[in-house]
Amino acid sequence: MVKGKIFAGWRFWFRLITYSLLALGTVDYFWVHPAQITQNDLSPIPSQIEDLVHRLRVHVDYLASPNLMGRKAGTPGNKLAERYLLEQFKKLRLSTPAPENRRTQEVSPAIGNNVFSALTPIHPKRKWLVLAAHFDHLGEEKGAVFLGADDNASSVAILLETARLLQRPPSLNQYNVLVVGFNSEEPPHIRTPWMGSNQFIMRIGETGLARSQIKMAVVMDLMGGVHWKPLQNSVFAIGAEKTPRLENVLGKIQTPGLEVRPLGIHMVESVPGMHPTPFSDYDAFRNHKIPFLFLSSGRTRHYHRSSDTSEKLHYARMARSAIWLAKLIRAVDALPTPLEFFPERENYLRDLQTLYPIIQKAAQWKGKIPQTSWVSLYKFNRDKKRLEQLNAQVSSNISLTNKDGRDLSLASIRLQCLLGNMGPCFLLPSP
Ligand SMILES: [Zn+2]
Repeated sequence: MVKGKIFAGWRFWFRLITYSLLALGTVDYFWVHPAQITQNDLSPIPSQIEDLVHRLRVHVDYLASPNLMGRKAGTPGNKLAERYLLEQFKKLRLSTPAPENRRTQEVSPAIGNNVFSALTPIHPKRKWLVLAAHFDHLGEEKGAVFLGADDNASSVAILLETARLLQRPPSLNQYNVLVVGFNSEEPPHIRTPWMGSNQFIMRIGETGLARSQIKMAVVMDLMGGVHWKPLQNSVFAIGAEKTPRLENVLGKIQTPGLEVRPLGIHMVESVPGMHPTPFSDYDAFRNHKIPFLFLSSGRTRHYHRSSDTSEKLHYARMARSAIWLAKLIRAVDALPTPLEFFPERENYLRDLQTLYPIIQKAAQWKGKIPQTSWVSLYKFNRDKKRLEQLNAQVSSNISLTNKDGRDLSLASIRLQCLLGNMGPCFLLPSP
């Protein structure tokens, strides 16, 4: 009697443990503990960019310091970040197009301000290019402080240093450039009218510009993180497919040591089971049919965690990104006519060319994205086969359809899910 009970007990535990282990094997996310997170090996910094690297680091160290307590909209730390940006604008001898020498735009009294300034000299008759990044972050939650080094002190630092590079001669020939720090991009304001970028566009007159004068916006978010060696020198240039000539310019600009990978905006927004979800301040410009480019090195496992701290960023890549962006602005300035925006345009072929080599690597057991479960690895292999079918289709001159585009975005979302350690990625469907 007693023996039987023990036996039943063993069987119960044996089954429970076996099934649990099997279930855990499918989970991508479960095993990661922030303490296990280590920095990838970063190559040494070449002497030509040492100064730039140093300046970027100073910006990030200040903005992501415990002093600013995570820069949450409406907090004293957010105000300190605003002040830092204004001081830097003045140090860079940037000017302002707004009446009464204003460089701030109040989003709301509870939230605080957007800040802006322009490259000098401002030519009153010229059209405008906008360079922007949000400077707010999450602040303090449940006793943890989220310092937000990658999100988004990294981009603010690049914004300031790109402005410095562009202030140097030769000056631009066709455009003025407005440099903007947005407030309130983070929850609870994201995708609401109270997002700093939405207020900026809605009340653009306060900056001294008219909406119709803005001919392109470059928005940066998450520009310093490293998650996986094959992408450690990469930045994604997203959304240029809506502006063919911008796409063309992108292909021509190079900075040694930096890989700029173009990607369609649908490749980051088409989260299965949700409406296309805008992820940053570029949305405000797109909604007004302004050509835009969204630059990001993507989410890492530190995304919206207290482990997003300044010593983890890839400053050499950030320096190269600033150099690259200054070149891009000069190249756009040299175009004979303004850029045009085609909201429905896609470039699935370009998406495929960017995605295939990355998926190929993610689908190999050796060198896979850390924490990829066997289910996700299996699904990556199915994605890879699907992408190979699309490659074959392209080789036989059959153009890619919207259905093919959806399959591409599924593979892309799986990739981002695993890179960002966003939870049960193994649940994402396959093409
Ligand atoms: Zn952000």
